[in-house]
Amino acid sequence: MAGGTDDKGLSPATRLVLAGRKPEWTGPAVNPPVWRASTHLYENCAAQEAGRHVNKDGLFHYGARGGPTQWALADALTALEPGAAGTMLYPTGLAAPAMALLSVLKAGDEVLVSDNSYDPSRTIAMHALRDYGISARFFDPLNLAGFAAMITDNTRAVLLECPGSLTMEMCDIPALTAAAKARGLAVLLDNTWAGPTGFQALRHGVDLSILALSKHVGGHSDLMLGSVTANAEYYPRLRKRSLMLGQQAAPDDCALALRGLRTMGMRLERSSASALTIAEWLEGRSEVAAVLFPMLPGASGYDLWKRDFTGGCGLMTVVMAGRDAAARNRLIDELKLFGIGYSWGGFESLALAIHPERDRAEMPWPPPGFDPADRFALRLWIGLEDPADLIADLTHGLAAWAAP
Ligand SMILES: *Cc1c(COP(=O)(O)O)cnc(C)c1O
Repeated sequence: MAGGTDDKGLSPATRLVLAGRKPEWTGPAVNPPVWRASTHLYENCAAQEAGRHVNKDGLFHYGARGGPTQWALADALTALEPGAAGTMLYPTGLAAPAMALLSVLKAGDEVLVSDNSYDPSRTIAMHALRDYGISARFFDPLNLAGFAAMITDNTRAVLLECPGSLTMEMCDIPALTAAAKARGLAVLLDNTWAGPTGFQALRHGVDLSILALSKHVGGHSDLMLGSVTANAEYYPRLRKRSLMLGQQAAPDDCALALRGLRTMGMRLERSSASALTIAEWLEGRSEVAAVLFPMLPGASGYDLWKRDFTGGCGLMTVVMAGRDAAARNRLIDELKLFGIGYSWGGFESLALAIHPERDRAEMPWPPPGFDPADRFALRLWIGLEDPADLIADLTHGLAAWAAP
């Protein structure tokens, strides 16, 4: 987390401690209390009437616009993203790309969606937006010229995700962003994998940076939340559309997220370091065809990760060498320290069978250059356990994979 100082020269590690802790929200306590409030009371009728005409962040009005606990989290996320004008919060991570898209698109527009996007984001584009007269096409984010050629006069926005969901491709965000900006597109990036400490999205040309806070910010597998942080050009319309459609996050969950945020840097460093150790070990195993993990030197996408990112997290995909789905499932079922479950970013390790071929329009699975037999894959989230224990567990899993 060395890189990426903000305008005041403070590094992300320091900002994670300071961010959002305004005295008017915290009082004498270190953390803001949980303000559970629907109704905010006005002093008199004149104050209430005057309040109707000001609609700004950080002012008491009604619970739908949040209160100090939500404002503190939003303010913290804005402080972590140099170039940001503000942050909106949502009750799930998935609501974040939904609202970002709805704030920049209208009937008749088209959005280009990276083909390796989080599957539910693809569904929003393909189904929900289509019902509102907004069309969507998928593109291969590794094909820069192809992307630029797809932009038409109706194209209004592009949704990127880097690295890609499940298949972990790194795309050239500054180059894609430059091509998009040349045609006046809004650039949306789902930055959940690296988060604001691992990739400074807005400084690299992104307009709206999307996070599933359920992952690293929560960090303890006990809450659902999402956010979008936007620059000055896009924040006003993001805020307006989100509030118009009744989007707000619960103060209790925001307080948990603020608690998680303070240790996020350390947790991500630990998770990434353990993941690197495990990825290097897996790469040397004959049972494994490929480890898809951009922080691994020599892996696909490593050079772009090194050039543009200052961090990442312990999420990787392991492609097995041949055999079948049953063998891959035996491996997963054999693991004692890895739970089987959706999501990631918590303190505990997870393993999940994945099926990238089920939701790709343009990008083949297995990827170009792979033996077609090497297609059965699992996703690993590396938590805070001792990596030596996780390697011992995986060793048992690999033996179960190899068993006839
Ligand atoms: C998990 C995830 C989401 C959705 O977050 P939820 O809080 O689970 O709804 C969105 N984008 C990416 C990349 C994710 O991994």
